[in-house]
Amino acid sequence: MLLTESTSPALLSTRQAPRLAVTDLSATYLEGGEVLRALEAISFEIADGEFVALIGPSGSGKSTLLDIISGLFPQSEGEVQLAGSSYATEDRLGHTAYMRQRDLLLPWRTALDNAALALEVQGEPKRSARRTAAARFPEFGLAGFEDAYPAQLSGGMRQRIAFLRSVLTNRPLLLLDEPFGALDALNRVALQAWLLDLWERQRQAVLLVTHDVDEAIFLADRVIVLSARPGRIVHTETVALPRPRARAMVTGDAFLGHRTHLLDALGLLRAPGPGGPGGPENLQ
Ligand code: ADP
Ligand code: MG
Repeated sequence: MLLTESTSPALLSTRQAPRLAVTDLSATYLEGGEVLRALEAISFEIADGEFVALIGPSGSGKSTLLDIISGLFPQSEGEVQLAGSSYATEDRLGHTAYMRQRDLLLPWRTALDNAALALEVQGEPKRSARRTAAARFPEFGLAGFEDAYPAQLSGGMRQRIAFLRSVLTNRPLLLLDEPFGALDALNRVALQAWLLDLWERQRQAVLLVTHDVDEAIFLADRVIVLSARPGRIVHTETVALPRPRARAMVTGDAFLGHRTHLLDALGLLRAPGPGGPGGPENLQ
């Protein structure tokens, strides 16, 4: 029998399951005997190949959310589904490529050995892990630096090595926690363009945490805004910019409209009291 979409609803539903579905998720930490609520009633989905940015004040639970999705930290309530299947916390480990905030390179390992690390951790023999990593060095702008140590490299290069380490595992969901957070503005812009180019070719689903509103708009299909702690979703902005994105778009009306909506959702368009909530210094 010929299977078509109309004759095979099961097949159809498998194909349409989102890469990630988070439902009614909340998270707590125990801090000095007290329960601290970090996230509350978080629900959203990311389709295959979709680029979603997550933005919110410092302490709103962005890193916690990524830790939970990757399986490093348990939610206290709610569900995480990957490609239509529900996974317990520890079973999610190894299903995502995760670049944690301040993902440090090991100073005693060369650039190549740092990049190959994720594959080695997965059990791949060192030689083939190094071969796989080396093959991607040119694409990441790292050719010729295989044997350099992290201390000999620029901040942008170190970020790209950490990034390469995350994507080498070839997983269909990429979690990035402020990957360009430590870089100056020029380096950020260069790496944003480079990330977009890579994503256009690989089309993994991406969840990117950033504190930079412009970065979120420029990169993402959708921007999710969290409130201050406990983090709740207060706004979702669908970005109506065509792809491929061009830097000149950041001065256009559509871009400025998105920026206004996002700054408003973050409470940054209301006059803040000195040091009070809503000051830009709290957006990290
Ligand atoms: P963000 O990444 O948005 O800045 P985090 O997810 O790092 O926020 O933290 C959310 C809240 O949870 C913060 O108030 C933070 O202090 C608290 N928190 C984070 N990690 C821990 C931990 N291991 N133990 C106790 N509290 C934590
Ligand atoms: Mg964080």
